[in-house]
Amino acid sequence: MTSVAIVGSGFTGFECARRLSRLARKHNAPVDISIISPVDYMLYTPLLPDVAGGLVDARFVTVPLANTLNGVRTVRGRVDGVDFDGHTLTYTDPENRTRELSWDRLVLTPGSVTRLFDIPGLAECARGLKSTAEAVYLRDHLLEQLELANIDDDEKRIRGRRTVVVVGASYSGTELVVQLQALAETAGKQMGFDPAEVKFILLDLAEQVMPEVGEKLGEAVQRVLRKRGVDVRLGVTLKEVHPDHVVLSDDSCIDTRTVAWVTGVTGAPLIEKLGLPTERGRLKVQPDLQVPGHPDVFSAGDAAAVPDLTQPGKITPPTAQHAIRQGKVLARNVAASLGYGKPKQYKHRNMGLVVDLGPHYAVANPLNVQLSGYAAKFVTRMYHLYAMPRFVNRWAVSLAYLTDVFFDRSVVSVGLSTQDDARFSTSEGIPLPKAD
Ligand SMILES: Cc1cc2nc3c(=O)[nH]c(=O)nc-3n(C[C@H](O)[C@H](O)[C@H](O)COP(=O)(O)OP(=O)(O)OC[C@H]3O[C@@H](n4cnc5c(N)ncnc54)[C@H](O)[C@@H]3O)c2cc1C
Repeated sequence: MTSVAIVGSGFTGFECARRLSRLARKHNAPVDISIISPVDYMLYTPLLPDVAGGLVDARFVTVPLANTLNGVRTVRGRVDGVDFDGHTLTYTDPENRTRELSWDRLVLTPGSVTRLFDIPGLAECARGLKSTAEAVYLRDHLLEQLELANIDDDEKRIRGRRTVVVVGASYSGTELVVQLQALAETAGKQMGFDPAEVKFILLDLAEQVMPEVGEKLGEAVQRVLRKRGVDVRLGVTLKEVHPDHVVLSDDSCIDTRTVAWVTGVTGAPLIEKLGLPTERGRLKVQPDLQVPGHPDVFSAGDAAAVPDLTQPGKITPPTAQHAIRQGKVLARNVAASLGYGKPKQYKHRNMGLVVDLGPHYAVANPLNVQLSGYAAKFVTRMYHLYAMPRFVNRWAVSLAYLTDVFFDRSVVSVGLSTQDDARFSTSEGIPLPKAD
């Protein structure tokens, strides 16, 4: 029996496992496929801002591996190292035991983690948006601060509790700020304060909001944000983060107790440990997704620097769109390496982006057609429902959207994710050298 070990259950690993097991069944091939991941689900990250905003439940955006990956063995654990000569890997299981697994083919898809900078207080006081723990924490934390502000008697403290700073004005940061604003709006109505008193500040070093959707749509988004009262500050970032205030790179100071850091990602920490060539923190691979010099090892998705054959000299951006398609090519090429079918090179033209901007607004550029407003909202929601790889999740998310049409979102902090659970180190597995 030939064994294939897939590291990571994100978009890429999940899609690779699903396709590979189908190919194995089709060819009646004796292949033992394992997927190793610290979590037992595939996280549909594009809806994390909706989770943070209390619109969608965290469970609805997690696709369970059990029951969706037929013929694939799921192993719960975080891979710590790979012995390429001995064809083994070591991982830490949920009970902190070190275990070993041997493989004939290895697929490295551990994805990415939030890119942190050496900003004093950042890892301690800010939280990201890459995991369910972080999204749930942001929702609960904001509601808690609004509740505390309601009974506080110190003006400066109240201001800090009612100020949210989101750093990173690309699509995920922008979606987050509008979802948190929608949550605060409902909280204001239900808790009896003026929602306009809650200030939202969106920062970015870049000079444009959402450069991914082009200048025209980016400007439209900026107009909508400003109309809704979001204070968009471009060309600045954080200089220091403290529990009750931040200092910006222009030396201005903002009282706040809620800081979300959504400025981009870098390859998972495992990639650095492998001792193989990388490009911008991502593992170098060939266009057929094989790791150079290791014919039995493959990689793709956010963790890999996949050459973009549609734009020579560039690598594909870290998006779900590429991750899913690369997962399919991985499955095909791993099967081909075992003698079933022919390999192919990864080549995919960008199909555009959909960005949900909260109540009544979205922007999208499917196949380069620029859409905004209700048309984009429809395309965006339909796209997510189509892209989600499980009917039950689609059903649950559709019901959440429908509920939102008729009822206010629930203003409730369930308390499932603590400040510690949502740390970059705990929730994303980022090793933090300094005391955290
Ligand atoms: C908030 C947010 C919104 C987004 N919205 C969009 C969008 O609208 N459209 C779009 O195209 N893209 C979007 N993206 C980007 C998209 O989520 C990523 O490109 C995609 O998740 C990459 O898939 P992946 O499988 O390579 O990695 P990931 O999804 O990061 O999955 C990696 C997997 O590997 C596991 N893992 C990590 N380390 C180890 C280890 N050492 N051992 C074992 N397992 C490990 C992780 O637990 C995870 O299961 C968004 C991302 C975020 C954070």
